Amino acid sequence: MVKLLRTTQELKVLRDNQSNDIAFVPTMGNLHQGHISLLNEALQNAKIIYFSIFVNPKQFGPNEDFKNYPRTLEEDVQKIESAASTFPGKEIYVYAPLNPAEVFDEAEPTTVKVLGLNEMLEGKIRPGHFDGVSTVVHRLFEIIRPQKAYFGLKDFQQYRIIEKMVDDLQMPLKIIGMPIIRETSGLAMSSRNQYLNTEERLEALTLSQALLTIKKIIDGKRENLIKAQTFIKEALSDKRWNYLEIRDAETLSPEITHSKNLTLLGVFQLRHTRLLDNMQVSLI
Ligand code: AMP
Repeated sequence: MVKLLRTTQELKVLRDNQSNDIAFVPTMGNLHQGHISLLNEALQNAKIIYFSIFVNPKQFGPNEDFKNYPRTLEEDVQKIESAASTFPGKEIYVYAPLNPAEVFDEAEPTTVKVLGLNEMLEGKIRPGHFDGVSTVVHRLFEIIRPQKAYFGLKDFQQYRIIEKMVDDLQMPLKIIGMPIIRETSGLAMSSRNQYLNTEERLEALTLSQALLTIKKIIDGKRENLIKAQTFIKEALSDKRWNYLEIRDAETLSPEITHSKNLTLLGVFQLRHTRLLDNMQVSLI
């Protein structure tokens, strides 16, 4: 059963009469297989699933694609229904608030800033982006009160930020990170991939291929990090890279002398489209 909720009021009335075994998947809609993989995992692990579709204005900068972000609610609900059909007996609530005031009821909402992680990497290029993300996710957690929430590792910095927020604020839920779903070409799935033309789709492979090459160069060995850094330095002469970095996988710090788990983070820009990807590397 899939039910569409367009107001917070409807959701609150429902939620007040439900048990505490709720899984939650927050998204901005325009669903692809990456989103559906989160939904499938939620379906496997809870009887009641909340799936939000909300293009959050707070996480877009003034010159970003908020207005043009693809909004495809009808198709999204169909995809959710199709995934749900293999899990009979589950209750799925699609929370797609009609207007942002349903989530942010004030002009100047109380803001959650996850300090330490919010201004580096993506946060440096998109000032305020992660404050917008953490504020809305916090608000959605308060409205929905889930016990589990599913996030894609595709947005690795976002995942770490949400984990830290939940930990710091001692929110009573578990954050689960899910693997990146890729096209067969290696390109990480993203709603923004549809902005790319045929030629750019090919150029976009530079991103996943570079990450894979760095992972292979490191090959689990700390002594190979220097070779990897040399590769990165050469790659960065291509100005389409916003960044390409090796960071500690827990803290996202560039200081990795004692790190065991690393994350390779890259953003490659094709015209106005910024493509994000990452890969994890463990040192033996
Ligand atoms: P978005 O709608 O882009 O805000 O994404 C909603 C959720 O889906 C986030 O937790 C993303 O990390 C996750 N997600 C987006 N793309 C992928 C992907 N290719 N693989 C796995 N998760 C993804």
